[in-house]
Amino acid sequence: MSKRIFWTAITLTLALAGCKSSKPAAPPSEEKKEQAQTVDKDTLKIADDVAQRLEQFVPTDIDFDEKLVSQKDRKVLVKLVEAARIIDDIYLDQVGPSVRGVRAQLVEQKAPAAALGYFDIMYGPWDRLKNDDPFIGTRPKPPGAGFYPEDMTKQELEEQIKQRPAEAEALKGYFTVIRREEGKLVPVPYAKAYEDRLKRAAALLREAATFATHAPLKAYLEKRAAAFLSNDYYESDMAWMDLGDSSLEIVIGPYEVYEDKLMGYKAAFEAFINLRDPDYSARLQKLARFNEEVEKNLPLDAKYHTKRGTASPISVVIELFTAGDTRAGVQTAAFNLPNDERVRTKKGSKKVMLKNVTEAKFNRVLVPIAKQAIDEKLLERVDFDTYFTEILLHEMAHGMGPGQINVEGRETSVNAELKELYPAIEECKADITGLVNGAFLIKKGALPKEMAERLPATYLAGVFRAVRFGTEEAHGKAVLVAFNYLFRKGAITFDDKTGRFGVTYERFDKVVRELDGELLLLQAKGSYADAKKLIEDYGTVQPQMKQVLGRLTGVPVDIRPRYTIEQKMKAW
Ligand code: ZN
Repeated sequence: MSKRIFWTAITLTLALAGCKSSKPAAPPSEEKKEQAQTVDKDTLKIADDVAQRLEQFVPTDIDFDEKLVSQKDRKVLVKLVEAARIIDDIYLDQVGPSVRGVRAQLVEQKAPAAALGYFDIMYGPWDRLKNDDPFIGTRPKPPGAGFYPEDMTKQELEEQIKQRPAEAEALKGYFTVIRREEGKLVPVPYAKAYEDRLKRAAALLREAATFATHAPLKAYLEKRAAAFLSNDYYESDMAWMDLGDSSLEIVIGPYEVYEDKLMGYKAAFEAFINLRDPDYSARLQKLARFNEEVEKNLPLDAKYHTKRGTASPISVVIELFTAGDTRAGVQTAAFNLPNDERVRTKKGSKKVMLKNVTEAKFNRVLVPIAKQAIDEKLLERVDFDTYFTEILLHEMAHGMGPGQINVEGRETSVNAELKELYPAIEECKADITGLVNGAFLIKKGALPKEMAERLPATYLAGVFRAVRFGTEEAHGKAVLVAFNYLFRKGAITFDDKTGRFGVTYERFDKVVRELDGELLLLQAKGSYADAKKLIEDYGTVQPQMKQVLGRLTGVPVDIRPRYTIEQKMKAW
């Protein structure tokens, strides 16, 4: 289940670190828990460095052009923002049983603003950048968050699932919480557990639907409202895939399971309220027209070209407001939904890319990194339009090259053959194939010719953002492999005097194409051994990069969004 997308440039590797299943800590013994609670009852201890932690997140306006929003859509949006705020409130219950109490206590003890600010970013007293360590008080976060009784162990639930087969589905379900009633574990559907709030949210969605002029959007809102009450999300997930060219791209409901670190079963509530971006939607369509030529240009022997299933549609949007799970900690820059496999089989899934959030991260995080890491002469070639185009090219490249393959007469897939190495290799392929395609599309006139200089520089700057938070997860590793390959073959250089990296333009496209050839071939052959060798040869941080990464300590981790719609809609 679950696909928030983690790639190059877009989503911080940190977000992934947050969902990597750190082994759930054993629940505290009864005695320890009591102690912790008594300590908490006095004054909550606040981490000394809470102000510095807060500074890692730069307050940033998430803005949009009001002219893009029709009068009718404004009415829809007012209702949806209200519904999203309810979703936010439900999510607080899902984070942990004591979250509200802790916040109230902070206010009561007149805690410094930084403590409250950081609490609000983290949606609780646990630091999502530091494996959920408490920065307020001493109580550890229950690994099952607010989804299970605090004293329930993984083992207890697993045994119950075995012993009560008729209820197994409900106990494991994405949309139930587990409560203890007279000692027994009882699954409670979200529709019941959060009944009052979901009824209010459903009413708001139905009101919004009455203003919606686009039939598929109207259908989605009505079906999602029904799901809040019936607890069955299938029909509304199907309707979401049919939103098509709706000017509003709305997601509201329970989706990702990262918050449930105990079992990975329970979906957390979130909302995205987005506006379709006309400019990049047009660019995507234009680029898609070249798909066949682009595929032919790939450095892969024709005999290895395979037919692929329908690629998932990409939607570029401007974020207006978010709530719940996605708003906690590091901000999502793109996502891929729905998670329901039945819907994915029938209709595929949709990638939604949040342009203004990506732009904010670009300005607040990537540019400051570039200023420390790359040749100063290259800085003027690092720009947002190129950066975002590079991300689009990366996404499109995921749908190209070998997918279903034949290995010695056996029908199989690249994924099955490369096993645990697949994510890193596939991400690397998408980055590098994206660059190959970019160079080709520039030559064809489908992309502005200035990008020939900008694409390599912008790629180089993005490397440091991606590896900054770790090179163990797939994307960090992927970026490192490509970077070291290009460095060793002289397409990227390092200046010992300035301590900065540069680009050798005469070699860049050639070496990129060479690496792409290796990646595509090993995928086509399904060669685990070649994949392993490539990662072993190129997957470690070299001293020059270490030196640069060491200089990046003052650069912010992420943005802290301020949604301007909250002000603007007062006049709607
Ligand atoms: Zn990717």
